[in-house]
Amino acid sequence: MLIVQKYGGTSVGSLERIENVAFRVIKTKELGNSLVVVVSAMSGETNKLIEYAEHFTSTPAKKEMDMLLSSGERVTAALLAIALQAKGVDAVAMTGRQAGIVTDSVHTYARIEEIDPSPMKSAIESGKVVIVAGFQGITKDGSVTTLGRGGSDLSAVAIAGAIGADQCEIYSDVDGVYTTDPRIEPRAKKLDIISYDEMLEMSSLGAKVLQNRSVELAKKLKVKLYAKSSFSDNAGTLIAEESENMESVLVSGVVLDRNQARVTLRGVSDKPGIAAQIFTKLADCLINVDMIIQNSATSDGETILGFTVPQSELQNAKTVMENFDHDIKDMDFDEKICKVSVVGVGMKSHSGIAAKAFSIMAQNGINIQMIATSEIKISMIVNEKYGELAVRTLHEAYELDK
Ligand code: ADP
Ligand code: ASP
Ligand code: MG
Repeated sequence: MLIVQKYGGTSVGSLERIENVAFRVIKTKELGNSLVVVVSAMSGETNKLIEYAEHFTSTPAKKEMDMLLSSGERVTAALLAIALQAKGVDAVAMTGRQAGIVTDSVHTYARIEEIDPSPMKSAIESGKVVIVAGFQGITKDGSVTTLGRGGSDLSAVAIAGAIGADQCEIYSDVDGVYTTDPRIEPRAKKLDIISYDEMLEMSSLGAKVLQNRSVELAKKLKVKLYAKSSFSDNAGTLIAEESENMESVLVSGVVLDRNQARVTLRGVSDKPGIAAQIFTKLADCLINVDMIIQNSATSDGETILGFTVPQSELQNAKTVMENFDHDIKDMDFDEKICKVSVVGVGMKSHSGIAAKAFSIMAQNGINIQMIATSEIKISMIVNEKYGELAVRTLHEAYELDK
């Protein structure tokens, strides 16, 4: 088989762990497989590099940030290749550029536009193990880009698609996708299989185990995707097309996203075009708005408009809103919130699931600040101090531990 394996930060977090990965790669190769291995930076490395830049300014140029951040992955790719060579394995390390990964020019959040698989393919054909630095690519005019946090997962899936790999395995410190983050609820159960759509929803709602864009691309390219642990030989979780027996599952998981902040605008003039102006300004500043609610207008023609943004973008959102000097009377910002979501394809055909979630919150005295629903999810914004309690009680209420 032709396999792409991706090892995340914890899996390559020390020299011993890089050696452990080398042994795993050798084992896979000895079973007769060809391999491309995508690596992340050592755990904590990307954050450390960001702190270095922020020592000088809180707004470093994104182009230089990409140059800086892409270095973390290059270190691990080189070290893993060296570790393999030291064990007599023919391995070659490649940067994103050397692996033929071309992106658009949205620095720090670039999209992969195309991959020229020939450098990787010819190395594989000559019997080499190819090690690729994840999370990075290059624009058509030669600038280094990165793909957004957690982006090595995306590198792996895109490479798997480009070289026609039989499967793509994402290795982290958990042995698969669980019904909720096992660090929050130790009784969480590992799922053997989950549909692309449910996984995409869980990832987009904040389950870190797979990056959301990687799941989206895996679905599009029909890449057979596994989440596995680099610390065990357990089977992991397969992410695949929805099948009939999956549909009987009502709720498949509960997700907590701590990285949310709420913006509330009061006394907003109730007239056409205001929402368009506000959200266009935010979009122009590349601020990702997530949940949005608007009340119906009061008799004096005013509404309340609330929305959430990632915590890292709250400062920017504040600046944008404070410069919006008309049609809003008052605003406040709250970082002490989190988003709790319940996900399941079975919700499509069952009613009462949302009502149950709201009852559980009420029984536990947890006030719900915002609600958003779709066919296969319910999300609630609550005070951050209730996030873990909400996850555990919802997990129990939907019997996910059974
Ligand atoms: P890596 O650094 O290898 O990319 P991540 O830290 O990004 O790994 O992802 C693994 C983490 O995802 C786990 O340590 C776990 O705490 C978290 N996680 C969140 N939700 C889930 C879930 N539903 N199932 C498994 N892990 C989850
Ligand atoms: N090192 C990058 C990050 O920490 C990319 C990754 O690990 O996937 O976000
Ligand atoms: Mg990750």
